[in-house]
Amino acid sequence: MNDLFKQAANDLVAAKNVVALTGAGFSVESGIPPFRGKGGLWEKFNPMEYAHIDAFMKNPTKVWNVLLKGLKEIIEKAQPNDAHKGLARLEELGILKTIITQNIDGLHQKAGNTDIIEFHGNFAWHRCLDCDKRCETERIDLTVIPPRCECGGIYRPEFVFFGETIPPQDLRRSELVASQCDIMLVVGTSAVVQPAAFMPLIAKGAGAKIIEINPEKTPLTASISDYLLMGKAGEVINGIMAEIEKLLSH
Ligand code: NAD
Ligand code: ZN
Repeated sequence: MNDLFKQAANDLVAAKNVVALTGAGFSVESGIPPFRGKGGLWEKFNPMEYAHIDAFMKNPTKVWNVLLKGLKEIIEKAQPNDAHKGLARLEELGILKTIITQNIDGLHQKAGNTDIIEFHGNFAWHRCLDCDKRCETERIDLTVIPPRCECGGIYRPEFVFFGETIPPQDLRRSELVASQCDIMLVVGTSAVVQPAAFMPLIAKGAGAKIIEINPEKTPLTASISDYLLMGKAGEVINGIMAEIEKLLSH
């Protein structure tokens, strides 16, 4: 593994334009469970039953009780982990330009990164289904489920449910930065949720190196990735950052 830390550090320091694609695994060490993979929510229930827009519209009370209530509590407590801090440092060093994230937890912003494409929106705001009024998630009162706006309409999170489309400007900009980077770091994503999973293919097709970080192999590992650093995001990024700091101090 040490050799791979060194290789990744060398590659990143030599690169001019690095983009990171992050998924739910990135925030696991912050206490937010992923959907797929070990310990994922899919081991307990099928997120499609709850995280799909049709499910929400059909039975908002159920989706609020099973998914959103818990998510609000977990996300409000969560803090950036070593992986988030590492990417913030990588931006500060001028190496990392943009993060494309599938996460909705806002932890990249909290860690200090400034150019983040939130592919699936975020959980920081809710919107009334009837009058469209927005409300910050931390101000949503959960004593009655589902929470309602003063007009009586039900609040929905502003994130992108399964079955909804990615905001076109986010998709276009992701495709653009993917096609322009010389390294794409793919971290903590099972790379099966489209169209996010397509970004590494665009990057690879345009000549970028793909460096994957994940405790498990993914569909990208054998086909697209140049190499995989197998392990938890925080531990692996700490290892790479230590090598980068060594390189830069010489
Ligand atoms: P996923 O749940 O499908 O896959 C998680 C991936 O993370 C797996 O490949 C797993 O092996 C890996 N992983 C687990 N622990 C890890 C760790 N400590 N370090 C690095 N990798 C780890 O996630 P996905 O591909 O991002 O897709 C699911 C969708 O669900 C996302 O698009 C996202 O919108 C949503 N989601 C978001 C959050 C969040 O905001 N934190 C959490 C759960 C789900
Ligand atoms: Zn309203």
